[in-house]
Amino acid sequence: MSKVRVCVICGGKRAGGPSRRSFVDDIEPCSKCRKKYLSKGVLLVEAKEDRAHPEDTPTMTGSVLVLKNDAFKQLFEMPIPPRKIAFVEVGIIEMIANELKK
Ligand SMILES: [Zn+2]
Repeated sequence: MSKVRVCVICGGKRAGGPSRRSFVDDIEPCSKCRKKYLSKGVLLVEAKEDRAHPEDTPTMTGSVLVLKNDAFKQLFEMPIPPRKIAFVEVGIIEMIANELKK
């Protein structure tokens, strides 16, 4: 199986093409984005579990969001993950994005 290595933050923002599905072990953002975004926030990565094959690695849907550290702690009531990356179920990012628009 070939894997596409794109930075989930800036790679995901590039226009066009089919949805950029990637795998959970490839989510490390490029060093630029890590410095720019993850120094102050936590990267949320939306991932879908394959219910028929729960032992497989969840597939990223392509949705990502960076939440500021404070917002993350408030929303999730848990400590900041050490790598500043957290997986969320499908729908959570949309929910937060809608919440932030208010
Ligand atoms: Zn990047």
